[in-house]
Amino acid sequence: MTTCIKIAHLFPELLNLYADQGNLAVLAKRAMLRDIEVSITQVKLGSQLDLASIDLIMLGGGSDREQAVVGKELLRYKADLQEAVDAGLPILAVCGGYQLLGSYYELANKERIQGLSLLDFATIAGPNRLIGNIAIEWLQADGSPTGKTIVGFENHGGRTHHNYPALGRVLQGHGNNGEDHFEGIQYKGIVATYIHGPLLPKNPHIADHLLQKALRYRGFFEPLSVLDDELAFMAHNAMLNRLGVSMMMKEK
Ligand code: GLN
Repeated sequence: MTTCIKIAHLFPELLNLYADQGNLAVLAKRAMLRDIEVSITQVKLGSQLDLASIDLIMLGGGSDREQAVVGKELLRYKADLQEAVDAGLPILAVCGGYQLLGSYYELANKERIQGLSLLDFATIAGPNRLIGNIAIEWLQADGSPTGKTIVGFENHGGRTHHNYPALGRVLQGHGNNGEDHFEGIQYKGIVATYIHGPLLPKNPHIADHLLQKALRYRGFFEPLSVLDDELAFMAHNAMLNRLGVSMMMKEK
């Protein structure tokens, strides 16, 4: 396959908690192993984001302070981003990045960090942080189970409630709000999650899900070739074991 996936990494200097940047290394490597080129543009504060040429956006997590800075800057692109999301632009948004897709994140002191309102939800800080390793069952967009799991690490003060299809059902950990047992959002091209770790090295099936979305967005519909993911799934299953989850991931 000769094509190039163009990824925009938004504000890497501010949003890169728990090695979120590692997600890009996994996407680039898995694309390269299939002879697909990847170009990564780092969009830093004050630089220009040209969405017309972008096939996938990566928005990582950050502290409340960093989120407030990024939130203001992102509003410049709100109209363009809304148009691109409506057209199916794939976005991986992690934790603070996830929260910024909604209308606001209300801090404990009641101040609000304004979000992009690309999706109709809000996040409100709770009395404590939701911290620890997490395992979820990945769901299809229609809510049915995929039979696959996603593992990682979460650390967030914000609680998110929404009515979109969740990325998964919490098996161990907290997820969106520690109450309804759902984690993340999947909507059109968007995959939003509280899972750091980074997300993709131990979850190669999610990396491929994103690559496939990016390729489709660019007009390529061929399935991705199968890679040897034995080591990645050993790491994945070690986390499931540690969390006492009995579902185990097998290679494709
Ligand atoms: N600052 C946000 C919160 O605490 C997001 C944190 C993160 O990205 N891990 O909820």
